[in-house]
Amino acid sequence: MMSEVRERMVRSGEVELCAVEYGDTAHPTVVLVHGYPDSKEVWTPVAERLADRFHVVLYDVRGHGRSSAPAPLRGGFRLERLTDDFLAVANAVSPERPVHLVGHDWGSVQGWEFATVGRTEGRIASFTSISGPSLDHFGHWINQRLKRPTPRRAAQLLGQCAKSWYVYALHTPLLPELAWRGPLGRQWPKLLARAERLVPDSYPTRSLPDDAAHGAWLYRDNVRARLRNPRDDAYAHVPVQLITPLDDPFLSPRLYDDLERWAPDLRRRTLPTKHWVPRTRPDQLAEWIGQFVLAHQHADVGQPLGTAANRPAHRARSGRPPSRSARVQAAYAQRFAGQLVLVTGAGSGIGRATSFAFAEAGARVIAVDRDAQAASRTAELSRLLGAGAAWAETVDVSDEQAMEKLAARTATEHGVVDILVNNAGIGMSGSFLTTSTDDWRKVLDVNLWGVIHGCRAFAQQMVERGQGGHIVNTASAAAYQPSRALPAYSTSKAAVLMLSECLRAELSAHGIGVTAICPGIVNTNITATAHFTGASESEQERLRAKSSRLYRIRNYPPEKVADAVLNGVLRNAAVVPVTPEARGAHLLARLSPKALRAMARIDPPL
Ligand code: NAD
Repeated sequence: MMSEVRERMVRSGEVELCAVEYGDTAHPTVVLVHGYPDSKEVWTPVAERLADRFHVVLYDVRGHGRSSAPAPLRGGFRLERLTDDFLAVANAVSPERPVHLVGHDWGSVQGWEFATVGRTEGRIASFTSISGPSLDHFGHWINQRLKRPTPRRAAQLLGQCAKSWYVYALHTPLLPELAWRGPLGRQWPKLLARAERLVPDSYPTRSLPDDAAHGAWLYRDNVRARLRNPRDDAYAHVPVQLITPLDDPFLSPRLYDDLERWAPDLRRRTLPTKHWVPRTRPDQLAEWIGQFVLAHQHADVGQPLGTAANRPAHRARSGRPPSRSARVQAAYAQRFAGQLVLVTGAGSGIGRATSFAFAEAGARVIAVDRDAQAASRTAELSRLLGAGAAWAETVDVSDEQAMEKLAARTATEHGVVDILVNNAGIGMSGSFLTTSTDDWRKVLDVNLWGVIHGCRAFAQQMVERGQGGHIVNTASAAAYQPSRALPAYSTSKAAVLMLSECLRAELSAHGIGVTAICPGIVNTNITATAHFTGASESEQERLRAKSSRLYRIRNYPPEKVADAVLNGVLRNAAVVPVTPEARGAHLLARLSPKALRAMARIDPPL
């Protein structure tokens, strides 16, 4: 995976900057800028993943790592000086073509300056911002909330103030330097590993105490001045990709609410993770950075995209409020694009519709089914619908070993699954007295054991990765609605519902959500393959045809269940009853279980 790494020193005024380059210089150049208290090595895992397709450049910000510090320190870290440094590096590594800029934390704060000042126009082709707002945008965000403090806005302001405690600490004279060169510097690697669930390795580097002491001037030289007096013209002149970690302890996602005003050509993405995304989610970052760079490659060779002249046009374009479905699609794309999603029973009905919905949101989809042809077809159509990538796997979910092999193969070939949908299931209808032990085994093997095998194989990997995830189990309204006609099926689904609740309690400490989906009657193929206990072969066919007709008349589409799945993951809902009758029964189960019991005695129309 790793290509040759070249190091060079670049002069910028009185400082020398240490830059390293990966990959072929003929490829588009991607410059990754680190944050505080980091050095360029924070980006190594991402750089290694991008190096086969891009010319990747990392540099130590002045005063960090192997770059020299300005003298005196005070005033030497102003954003104007940092812009000089960026231009010096960009001119050295890519004199002919603009570069694609990526910043994390203070690297992103700087990146916003680079992407919004006139003197860099034509030198930047795109900007990916991670966990670091523009100080100018932040200043305006605060001013708006101070001028018109509605309760919601005041709460947002107070919330962000509480998250910014460390910024005040870094403004105190000498104390940060003493702490970083003393106990904090020694403890930081351990603290970081614990807080972010990082696997300890050679990072942070030995220069950390000096980096952190010097880096305090990033805050002192810029924060107060810019927040008090933010620039009014801080418009991005390049396309921007904003990646927001949803569990960032230092920054509220609300900071970016009005960002389209400043960056009209904006692509939003979110990750259910904490702050140090370059270390914790390098696969995902490399994927998104790569996609964004390739999508804006034309800016490599042509004119700068956003010049001062076309800014008003951009703003006018963004003036119309988007429709509800566009907003929902945007929210799904933000949350699921690039995520690795595995769906079982993906060859038909709800599983296929769910695969398509994730594909449309830009996820990478693994379609699993025991029917090889059906799984391949789902994967093929998912690719056409916009999936980042899609693969098919032929596996019977009731086969424990096959599921374990699937989990191992998936981890090796594609990485740890972010979202697992245990959806495969079969229908079975008929009274308890006509249900044989073989019938019980058949339905429990798929509907319950299939879910257990899926959870066992994939949850362990999610926990070990330490970066959260989500499991969706398809139960049914039959899980809480008793019926004399469906004892085996309902029992299997009630077990799936309880398993999901228990697992949710256990995995929440690992940042893994669990959702049980409870559709009602949905128009899929399930009735055509369902087993009717105690019925002869010819009788089976008649009953299947009859129930298929009823499901067709009800005509609730699987696409709506798929939408409920995505929405359930987005909200981390515990239980999602889907159809109106499933929602009604769910309510009745709580308000009047007696009524449900009375209904359970009625013979169904089959
Ligand atoms: P479907 O028959 O259209 O699709 C089920 C898919 O699962 C098929 O492609 C099938 O090949 C696959 N499958 C079955 N057994 C498998 C196994 N052992 N290993 C791998 N794949 C297997 O049915 P559907 O309605 O889309 O059902 C999906 C899920 O939704 C099931 O768990 C079902 O119990 C549940 N559900 C369906 C309804 C409904 O009304 N359709 C209602 C409530 C719950």
